[in-house]
Amino acid sequence: MAIPLRIEETIKNLEKNNMAAYYCETKEEVVPLIKTLVEPGVTVSNGGSVTLSETGVIDLLSSGDYNYIDRSKAKPEEIREVYLKALGADAYFCSSNAVTQNGELYNVDGNSNRVASIVFGPKKVIMVVGINKIVRNIPEAILRVKMFAAPKNTKRLDCNTYCKSFGQCVSTLSYDSQMCDGCDSDERICCSYVVSAKQRIKNRINVIIVNEELGY
Ligand code: SF4
Repeated sequence: MAIPLRIEETIKNLEKNNMAAYYCETKEEVVPLIKTLVEPGVTVSNGGSVTLSETGVIDLLSSGDYNYIDRSKAKPEEIREVYLKALGADAYFCSSNAVTQNGELYNVDGNSNRVASIVFGPKKVIMVVGINKIVRNIPEAILRVKMFAAPKNTKRLDCNTYCKSFGQCVSTLSYDSQMCDGCDSDERICCSYVVSAKQRIKNRINVIIVNEELGY
């Protein structure tokens, strides 16, 4: 089957930016592809992601085939240690809040452990991204997080924020809102805003684009 044009353009521009890009027609193709990218026995970890659960990647990481640094098993007092260990992983799995057709990744994080691992540390970053996360450019990516991803995630994580109650970021009420504008809540999940553009280390970041709607 032919790859949709906007995915084809996104893949071409990710590759131009030194990121490896892959296409899966369905979510069932994701785990077999990952098995070709990450050999058994290596150390792996992940960021919080609905997409990873929906595609079976979390089950794969927990299968015993890998040395899995599992954040979900950590006690609150252990979580900093787990996040630090994840920075030394051979492969780090996550999704991206948005991927632009220009070949950029846009991620917004509260604890910021996920964006830290995307930027530096793990030898390989493997992102699984549904077609719903592809946007034209960074302005659209910023809006996508404020209007869609953050409200869904604050609901999922039960954070006391404006977007959880009203379904969009409070900053979208202002016609000239800037990227980092938002709520004043102590439970705000938008604390670090990271754009990944052309990378120095070729193919450290791997983006698997799936032709299905996945995650937020
Ligand atoms: S800044 Fe606050 S209200 Fe805006 S999207 Fe983030 S958590 Fe929601």
